[in-house]
Amino acid sequence: MVQHYKNFIGGEWVEPSTGEYFENRNPANWDEVIGLFPKSGLADVNKAIAAAKEAYKKWRLVPAPKRAEILFNLAALIVKNKEELARDMTREMGKILIETRGDVQEAIDMTYFIAGEGRRLIGHTTPSEMMNKFQMSIRIPCGLVAMITPWNFPMAIPSWKMIPALVCGNAVIFKPATDTPLSAYNLVKLCEEAGIPKGVVSFITGSGSTVGAPLVSHPDIKIVSFTGSSDIGAQLNEMCASSFKKVSLEMGGKNAMVVMDDANLEMALEGALWGSFGTTGQRCTATSRIIVHKNIMKKFLDAFIEKAKALKVGNGLNPETQMGPLVSKSQQETVAEYVEIGKKDGAKLVCGGNKLTDGDYAKGWFFQPTIFAEVTRKMRIAQEEIFGPVVSVIEAKDIDDAIEIVNDSAYGLSSSVYTQSVNHAFQAIRDIYTGITYINSPTIGAEVHLPFGGTNATGNGHREGGIQVLDMFSEWKSVYIDFSGKLQRAQIDA
Ligand code: NAP
Repeated sequence: MVQHYKNFIGGEWVEPSTGEYFENRNPANWDEVIGLFPKSGLADVNKAIAAAKEAYKKWRLVPAPKRAEILFNLAALIVKNKEELARDMTREMGKILIETRGDVQEAIDMTYFIAGEGRRLIGHTTPSEMMNKFQMSIRIPCGLVAMITPWNFPMAIPSWKMIPALVCGNAVIFKPATDTPLSAYNLVKLCEEAGIPKGVVSFITGSGSTVGAPLVSHPDIKIVSFTGSSDIGAQLNEMCASSFKKVSLEMGGKNAMVVMDDANLEMALEGALWGSFGTTGQRCTATSRIIVHKNIMKKFLDAFIEKAKALKVGNGLNPETQMGPLVSKSQQETVAEYVEIGKKDGAKLVCGGNKLTDGDYAKGWFFQPTIFAEVTRKMRIAQEEIFGPVVSVIEAKDIDDAIEIVNDSAYGLSSSVYTQSVNHAFQAIRDIYTGITYINSPTIGAEVHLPFGGTNATGNGHREGGIQVLDMFSEWKSVYIDFSGKLQRAQIDA
């Protein structure tokens, strides 16, 4: 019997108003139905918002250190259930077990880190220009938060939003990606177990258009926190503009790794392999362009192709597997289409390029690790986000040329430079216009206590991670307390 899952509204697990459900299937074996999840509708959105509004009235008054105590409970529960959570995640979205364990670990790290902020949430005190006057700035919660998340980090990304929103005293309504409702359900179930009061966290599944859009546009929502594609991000931004909601958008990437001729080549190759094919290339920070100094192009490319060909592709639950399937058939089709575009535009396909469909691969959405050489910077495969195991190798003359190619992108999330030269490293750190730059490691590998986000079409200026995320989920209030016993006029009586 396949399990029917429910929405979580006002602290109760409830059937959707529509009475309809969608299937969650395993991308490594499409025959396996993991569960049935609510195809929710407008009535469910409205119900969740009404419950969250009630719950917020009390939650915002709970002292932040007390809110944090519940979040510490949550972190401990995620630790306790880590292995099972990781296995569920591999089954529903395909990435290999060491990576899904990493995804869960990121949620643990985020929860411990931000729960610690419950005893800080630091504001400022500052002297007044006048005598007998005190002033300070403090953080206040905003109200209701709509969280819309993608499928590629089904627990880490929700934790980046939910934990800071809660520690600041907001109530959240969470709509996960349709491809990964189980990991989202698992997280919410642990929130309940940890003791988060009823209604403070709500969970509704369903499509972006029937649940996501009405949720985001509801007038009671004060903050929209979205991670996903730039196209949908732009739509949501427009939907929220006239009501002046706070909107945080974490979107696509076309991340580049530079390999200079003075780089440690073995290290660069390992980094290129992990950055390009980790999570089957389905990371917003995936390495999708490798910009190689002309002096070492042949040596780098030959070794890179050999290593990519040796990667073991398969079911992520098998400990031998190094690269899992794509998340869905449509993602597999998109990747195949981009391979055709690359060939047509004149790039040289030097590794992979095909769907894997025989034997053990027959029931999943597998694709070969794919490398294009002789790519030029304006080709579509060098400009557009593919979100699959396809990497473009581009030649550069020197560090200036390489940096120019890195910056020639509509996106601006992550970048990386392999070099032994401190001069090249610091020039890259200064001149590359992305939110993240790695030196001597690939474009992936963010840690939760540093700000995370990007420039250009990757973001709208906000950051997740770090203590900077608190600015998204709270408002600053400046407070002036006059104890002089008389009217003191700023800028006039001072
Ligand atoms: P997506 O298609 O934009 O979907 C993201 C979320 O938005 C899903 O929950 C989706 O629901 C929902 N959605 C879709 N249409 C909507 C609408 N009209 N109104 C409200 N919500 C709507 O992106 P994806 O394919 O899941 O994820 C891949 C993208 O995410 C890539 O571009 C990747 O770079 C980006 N990403 C960025 C970061 C970052 O931090 N910068 C991190 C990870 C991923 P359904 O699932 O029901 O369609």
